[in-house]
Amino acid sequence: MLKTIVYNWFKIKQFIEIKCILCRGFTTLNQPLCTLCLNSFPVPTCFCSTCGIPINESETGLCPQCIIQPPLFDHCLAPFLYQFPINKVLQMVKYQSRLELIKPITQPMADLLSDFYLEDQWPEVVVPVPLHEKRLRKRGYDQALLLAKALKKQLPDVITLESHLLKRVKHSSPQQNLDAKNRQKNIKQAFALQKDLQYRHIALVDDVVTTGATVSEITKLLKKAGAERVDIWSIARTPENQ
Ligand SMILES: [Zn+2]
Ligand SMILES: [Zn+2]
Repeated sequence: MLKTIVYNWFKIKQFIEIKCILCRGFTTLNQPLCTLCLNSFPVPTCFCSTCGIPINESETGLCPQCIIQPPLFDHCLAPFLYQFPINKVLQMVKYQSRLELIKPITQPMADLLSDFYLEDQWPEVVVPVPLHEKRLRKRGYDQALLLAKALKKQLPDVITLESHLLKRVKHSSPQQNLDAKNRQKNIKQAFALQKDLQYRHIALVDDVVTTGATVSEITKLLKKAGAERVDIWSIARTPENQ
C-alpha cells in the first residue's frame, strides 16, 4: 500500500514538474516550454505580404525589394522572427534532437496558416525542403519533414504531404556561414524532382528562411515543372533578406 502511494507520488511529481527547456521554470501538462517563454517569441507586427520580412505599415503591403523585384515564390508565411529565443529553440531541434519542441512551435504556425487561408486557397500539397542523404544519415532525422508532419496533423485533411517529391542532389556546405551571393551559388541546382509534378499550388516547409536562396531555388524547379503557385511556410523568418 505504502509502496503504491510513494510510486504514484513520484509519477505525479514527474508528470507535473517538467522544467522549461529555456528558463528552467516549471511547466505544466508535460510541455517542454513554459507559457512565459512561448509568449516571448518575437512576432512581427506587420510584414511584407510576399517575402515575409517585417515592414512599416504601407499601402502596398510590400517591402521595397518586392516592389522592385519580387521573389519567385508567392508568399512566405512565418509566425516568428528569427531572433532569441526561437532561434535557440530551432537550433535545439536541428542539432540537439530536442524533437519534443516540434509540437509547441508548429501550433502557432498552424494558427497563422488557418488565418491566412481563410480568404485564400489552401495549397494542394505540403513538401518539406529535403536534406541531403549524407546529412540525414549523420543527423538521423529530417527536421523539415518532422515539422511538415506535425503541421499536416493540424491542417485540413485535403492537403497531402509529399516527402519524396524532391531530392537534394548536391551535398552543399551549410548556408549559415555564407553571404547572400554565395548562398545562391552554393544552393544552385542542389535539388531535383523525383517524379512528375501533379500539383499546381505547393507549400514548401522549412524551419527558417533567411535570404530565401534555398526556397527560391526549389520554387524555380517547381515552376519550371508546371507549378503555378509556391507558398513558403517556415517557423521563423530573419528580419532582413540576408
Ligand atoms: Zn520558460
Ligand atoms: Zn518583400
